[in-house]
Amino acid sequence: SLVPRVQLNDGQSIPQLGFGVFKVDPDETQRIVRDALEVGYRHIDTARIYGNEEGVGRAIAESGIPREELYITTKLWNDDQGTQSVLDAFDRSLERLGLEYLDLYLIHWPTPARDRYVETWKAFEQLRETGRVRSIGVSNFLRHHLERLLDETDVVPVVDQIELHPAHQQPETTTFADEHGIRIEAWGPLGQGKYPLFELPEVTEAASAHGKTPAQVVIRWHLQRGHILFPKSNRRERMAENLDVFDFELTEAEVDAITGLEREGRVSAHPDEFN
Ligand code: NAD
Repeated sequence: SLVPRVQLNDGQSIPQLGFGVFKVDPDETQRIVRDALEVGYRHIDTARIYGNEEGVGRAIAESGIPREELYITTKLWNDDQGTQSVLDAFDRSLERLGLEYLDLYLIHWPTPARDRYVETWKAFEQLRETGRVRSIGVSNFLRHHLERLLDETDVVPVVDQIELHPAHQQPETTTFADEHGIRIEAWGPLGQGKYPLFELPEVTEAASAHGKTPAQVVIRWHLQRGHILFPKSNRRERMAENLDVFDFELTEAEVDAITGLEREGRVSAHPDEFN
């Protein structure tokens, strides 16, 4: 595979570019993930709340791809935060995925109103000890959530998966993560189609200069900024397009111009308010 692997702080590594299945219809998931695997993806990002872990599992099983060549992430939903509920939820996710071990398990949201993410993380630490999950991380944690976790627990998350695209880059959180060896996974890397990212001149000019599409330029920007990402598409030709980004490189000026598009343009929920 052309996809580089990124080192994590626990000695494991992860393919930097993968395929996400948020909003992929459970009835279509097996077909869509089959396409993604055929096109060449080996890293799949799902979650209990997406309702499609079983479809992901069926696509993996029928693919015949050796388990160690795949990298599978799923996430603990908010109402499963706790201790015993984490252990139970993990078992059920693994069963739905049809796997003997998971590569990466994430706390999906901090949900500060529940005040359970520290307890939940301690259960994640226990799970990792069993070897049934290789790496543990968090999602939608802002700097202050990470600070509390680092203060009150032993294991540093390998990643923080946060909303990140050119209009919303979360420098406070990413700087803190960098300083503590926590890699950033960018969700909604294409802005979820919620603003005209692919029409901005900083993107279209780089696309023309390299003979690539605006989506490929944005994916390349993420890769060159060091993010792990897994753009989503139901369409096989776009899956292939989004993976075909290893034959060109943006110049430093092109990267900087896209970085300059920051405008605190969050397109989804605020982690302090979401429960
Ligand atoms: P995304 O930014 O990947 O956007 C997906 C949309 O972009 C597609 O529906 C499609 O309309 C469009 N698109 C994709 N490829 C394209 C192309 N080549 N040309 C033109 N348009 C294209 O948004 P996402 O799916 O929300 O984010 C990616 C993944 O991140 C998800 O599938 C999921 O795995 C993860 N995620 C995690 C969280 C979280 O809370 N942790 C939240 C949202 C998403």
